[in-house]
Amino acid sequence: MFRRDGTHPAIIFEPGKCIACGLCIEVAKRYEEELGLTFIGRGFDVRTAVPFGSPLADGLRRAALECAEVCPTGALVHADEAEEEAGGDEERWREDADGRSPDEAV
Ligand code: SF4
Repeated sequence: MFRRDGTHPAIIFEPGKCIACGLCIEVAKRYEEELGLTFIGRGFDVRTAVPFGSPLADGLRRAALECAEVCPTGALVHADEAEEEAGGDEERWREDADGRSPDEAV
C-alpha cells in the first residue's frame, strides 16, 4: 500500500507510484499554474511535488484532472476512480480472508 495524498478535492496522489516522467509537470505548465509541480531532489531521490512544500490543491488549481489523465502509472488518479479502486481492494481482501467471495459469505 502506497502513501496517499488525498488533500486535493479532485485527484489522489500516490508518490510511491511516480516514476518521475515529468508529464504532469508539463501539463501544469501548459495550464499556466502559478505553482504547478516540479522535481525535487536528484538521482534516485528525485520526486515530484508542489514547490515550497505547498499542498497539492494549491499547485494544481486548473490542471489536476488533465494531470491524472496523462499520468502513465496511476500515481495521479481522479479521486472518484481511487474510491472505486479502494472499494474493489476491500472486496478482494474480504474474499481472501474468508476463503469465499462476499456473495457466498451472506
Ligand atoms: S505523470 Fe505521474 S508518473 Fe509522471 S511525474 Fe507525474 S505523477 Fe509521476
